[in-house]
Amino acid sequence: MQEDSPVQNENTPDTTAEQPQRPGRRNRLIVLGAAAVVALGVGGVAVATTGPDRPAPTAVSADAQSRAEAASRADRFARESSAPASPSASPSVSPSTASASPTPTKTVTAKPKPKKTTKPTPAWVDPMPGASVTSCYGQRWGTLHAGIDLALPSGTPIRAAAAGTVTQAGDAADGYGNSVFIDHGNGYLTHYAHQSRIAVTVGQKVKAGQVIGYEGATGDATGPHLHFEVHQGMWNQIDPAPFMRTRGVDLGC
Ligand SMILES: [Zn+2]
Repeated sequence: MQEDSPVQNENTPDTTAEQPQRPGRRNRLIVLGAAAVVALGVGGVAVATTGPDRPAPTAVSADAQSRAEAASRADRFARESSAPASPSASPSVSPSTASASPTPTKTVTAKPKPKKTTKPTPAWVDPMPGASVTSCYGQRWGTLHAGIDLALPSGTPIRAAAAGTVTQAGDAADGYGNSVFIDHGNGYLTHYAHQSRIAVTVGQKVKAGQVIGYEGATGDATGPHLHFEVHQGMWNQIDPAPFMRTRGVDLGC
């Protein structure tokens, strides 16, 4: 049996691996080994081991068997390498995976941020830019002056302080003269009084900065000016100065 030793050693890893699954494989391997020995001309000992009725394997079956053995080796290598590698390799793998994953995640989340920046008109604008303040909101002569007076020559365009819907437009004979109310839909309304001419109608939707009329001295006015009010709810006048200032418009009070 000395002649079988090199052949057996060559097939030993595969044979032991295949034993639990296919016990018959061992015999076929021996046949292969014996056939190789016979081909080398070593002689009768190997032939006796093979058995009388087994045919010599063809080259095709030997090739298929070697491929199966290679696959078995590969499978076993994968199982053997994965089993002991997991305790030692996992600490090095998981930190690298953890450190690598946040980087692409940040890149992905940062991408949608830069979007359209096409908004030239601010939400709130000065209703009559360049005007001089002749009276601020507050007590005046024993009564509340409920708006800010802005003075420029008569006929100066008056602009909507923000987008909204015109809810009143006309002279209600209440001292405001020709006045316009704009409801901004957020609980606030703006009021523009003493106009010489009104340029909008009730129900009309206006944009911020859109001309709604022209400055004048209608109603109780000693001279041409815009009386500008902010209502937090209809007829609940608040100081327009801080309200507009927090919205980026400084009216000077
Ligand atoms: Zn006024």
